[in-house]
Amino acid sequence: MPPVIKPGLDKYDVVFIGGGSGGVAGSRRAASYGAKVALIEATEKLGGTCVNVGCVPKKIMWHAADIAEKIRHAEGYQFKGPGIGAPQFDWKSFKPLRDAYIRRLNGIYDNNVAKEGVELHHGLARVLSPSSVQVTRPDGSKYTLNTERVVVATGGRPTIPSEDQIPGASLGINSDGFFDLAEQPKRVAVVGAGYIAVELAGVLHTLGSEVTMLIRGETVLRTFDPVIGETLTKWMKHTGINFRHGSHVKKVEGTKGQELTIHLADGETLKVDTLIWAIGRHANTEDLGLEELGVKLDDKGNVIVDEYQETGVPNVLALGDVAGKALLTPVAIAAARRLANRLYGPEKFKQDKLNYDDIPTVVFSHPTIGTVGLTEPEARKKYGDDNVKIYKSSFRALYFSMIPEEHKEPTVHKLVCVGPEERVVGIHIIGLGSDEIMQGFGVAVKMGATKQDLDDTVAIHPTSAEELVTMR
Ligand code: FAD
Ligand code: NDP
Repeated sequence: MPPVIKPGLDKYDVVFIGGGSGGVAGSRRAASYGAKVALIEATEKLGGTCVNVGCVPKKIMWHAADIAEKIRHAEGYQFKGPGIGAPQFDWKSFKPLRDAYIRRLNGIYDNNVAKEGVELHHGLARVLSPSSVQVTRPDGSKYTLNTERVVVATGGRPTIPSEDQIPGASLGINSDGFFDLAEQPKRVAVVGAGYIAVELAGVLHTLGSEVTMLIRGETVLRTFDPVIGETLTKWMKHTGINFRHGSHVKKVEGTKGQELTIHLADGETLKVDTLIWAIGRHANTEDLGLEELGVKLDDKGNVIVDEYQETGVPNVLALGDVAGKALLTPVAIAAARRLANRLYGPEKFKQDKLNYDDIPTVVFSHPTIGTVGLTEPEARKKYGDDNVKIYKSSFRALYFSMIPEEHKEPTVHKLVCVGPEERVVGIHIIGLGSDEIMQGFGVAVKMGATKQDLDDTVAIHPTSAEELVTMR
């Protein structure tokens, strides 16, 4: 069903703002309980960041890079023939195919919200009061939806330094721009050291670009357990990614799409074809009318909410990236579904809410990383050194047995345990298969597993995952 161009009802039970992971999940769940629901999305595409410029196209690119690695590794397994050992990736023909897949997903999202009876509005939303939301359509016309409640799920967008902060900064692109690249850039600089920086750098390098990481610290992923950042940084360097530590961009010169000269604070310069800013994201809270209503934002612009996603202004709620906590698609979805359960579902859900502890997460680096719970420093701080026991194992996955030494990726598994019962409060793994291993171990940590519980679990052989239940 196409989006509507005026309110279909006098009053809605709830208006969701933002057709991304949270807004779509929450509006559908609320409508499934019979609530009268409107969903407002500013762009023409449902799915938000994850579907359009996030998880999905990123993971597809990761798979492309993974195949390139496998083609290189095939030589070690004695595959012969043209192309083996020297993959040639055709970015130019791949991108339109990737885009077409995303468009199909957009269509599926449209159908899903329509099937559930959610009324879809295309336009920019502004909250006029807890019971009215204005929609400004792309043609500039406006109308107002009346409602019992408003749920803000407007997500966030990449942060880029201003021209005042760094002259020429706008010559660079961000992760959105990465997905627009029609051709593979030959020389790329990536500024940042978080999820997006390491994922995009990994894809570009593995597919054949020359990549330089401009990072402030000694390692990437500094908010993760130290073993993760150290292992990944070392391996990225080993594979040929250049690193400039303690680096600060002072100025960028050139023409977008052509050669750029990056001037660093230490006086050095770097010439690249593409500069990618990956220095974090910030919430879409501007021009939403929230502060006028008394909704509190933190100093980064995230909406402050309580454990029930309530903002403190009655009937105005917020969830997902806009609330600034664990910026992950399954978190936005889980918070949204639980909120809809609580507000419109059966009695058993009347206290439903998302518990933000022990959220497992994966970084699609090369190799991948899986992590859940406390890092070692966090556990030591919380429980004291004497109460923390660490188990660690470093090895090479069996897969690499047939592959030359220099291409053997590291695997490191670490368990963070506390107390005499050795409750597992953190698991941090890097290495082949970590992405798929993590989900099940996330369940174990959430259930309060102890080291003994892991030891009591019979290993699956031969896998990398078995190390997690056989550590001494
Ligand atoms: P969004 O998905 O951002 O949706 C917000 C929607 O609100 C958008 O469609 C926007 O157009 C709309 N909107 C904004 N303002 C208005 C307005 N005023 N009126 C109407 N509509 C409005 N997470 C993972 O779990 N796994 C991953 O592998 C992963 N990879 C990622 C890779 C990248 C490059 C990026 C950038 C993010 C990635 N994430 C990943 C994070 C994930 O995409 C987000 O956590 C998730 O999309 C958040 O969902 P949301 O509903 O809060 O916001
Ligand atoms: P992150 O917050 O993960 O990382 C940004 C990093 O950039 C910081 O940790 C910091 O590292 C560095 N940085 C910050 N400011 C500056 C600056 N001014 N100059 C140079 N470096 C700077 O942000 P991302 O943009 O990578 O990702 C946003 C979020 O999206 C993630 O936190 C994650 O929740 C989500 N995401 C999830 C993915 C997944 O699930 N696989 C994939 C991609 C994104 P340092 O302090 O070391 O300099």
